[in-house]
Amino acid sequence: MADVLKVESLSVYYEKNEAVKDISFSAEQGKLIGIIGPNGAGKSTLIKAILGLEKALGKVTVLGKSVKDVREKISYVPQRNQIDWDFPVLVEDVVLMGRFTHIPWYKKAGKKDHLVVTESLEKVGMLDFRKRQIGELSGGQQQRVFIARALAQHADLFFLDEPFVGIDVTSEEIIIHLLRELRNEGKTVFVVHHDLSKVEQYFDELLLINKELVEFGQVKEVYQPDILSKTYKGSIQLFGANENIMVVSD
Ligand code: ADP
Ligand code: MG
Repeated sequence: MADVLKVESLSVYYEKNEAVKDISFSAEQGKLIGIIGPNGAGKSTLIKAILGLEKALGKVTVLGKSVKDVREKISYVPQRNQIDWDFPVLVEDVVLMGRFTHIPWYKKAGKKDHLVVTESLEKVGMLDFRKRQIGELSGGQQQRVFIARALAQHADLFFLDEPFVGIDVTSEEIIIHLLRELRNEGKTVFVVHHDLSKVEQYFDELLLINKELVEFGQVKEVYQPDILSKTYKGSIQLFGANENIMVVSD
């Protein structure tokens, strides 16, 4: 399988504080990849640096090109707390924003764009809410609308930052189902994730970081107590017969 993303020696500094330290890895097409690490480990910063939203040292290549040349191929769902949910905008317009990379600036959205919006809302089970204000919805419904926006973009590479935080079980199930579908279609999906109990069930591969890259590999190879303990440092406790039960405090 071809590499869709190549990250070489990526570092991000906030003032003198190094939030992401010399991270390198390559990701293949058709993978669902969890980004795991404690609070403040640089997970969100890593994603933003890859997307070119944060100034970084190093090199990022997507489908053999620089990110700015293939921006329309990359979809991003930010962490919920970074979105202004009071912004007065209709659900269908949020999803239509996902089409903007496809619509020339001098043109109106066309029939095809509106069709894609309808299809995307249908996939996340939110079509009946298309004329509602985004701020009126529950957390899970809002997240589903943002997933619909990402789907509408028809991207090849997806980054979702903690998509399951603060949402209901039904929304989580709908979203993970869609992410698996994207993976099965050959897309690569990165998900910053918090809840270790779901890791084995949800992901093909894991990227474990704590400022630096601790490990990147198949879930069954890297989801191991010693590697998790290295990632979470003091904030993890292992117990049980094989030290295979973990408690993370962060
Ligand atoms: P995570 O997503 O893993 O919780 P972040 O990427 O948000 O971690 O943050 C990594 C580190 O960078 C933290 O120490 C955080 O306080 C710091 N940081 C994040 N964003 C900024 C910013 N805009 N300015 C200064 N420091 C920041
Ligand atoms: Mg974060």
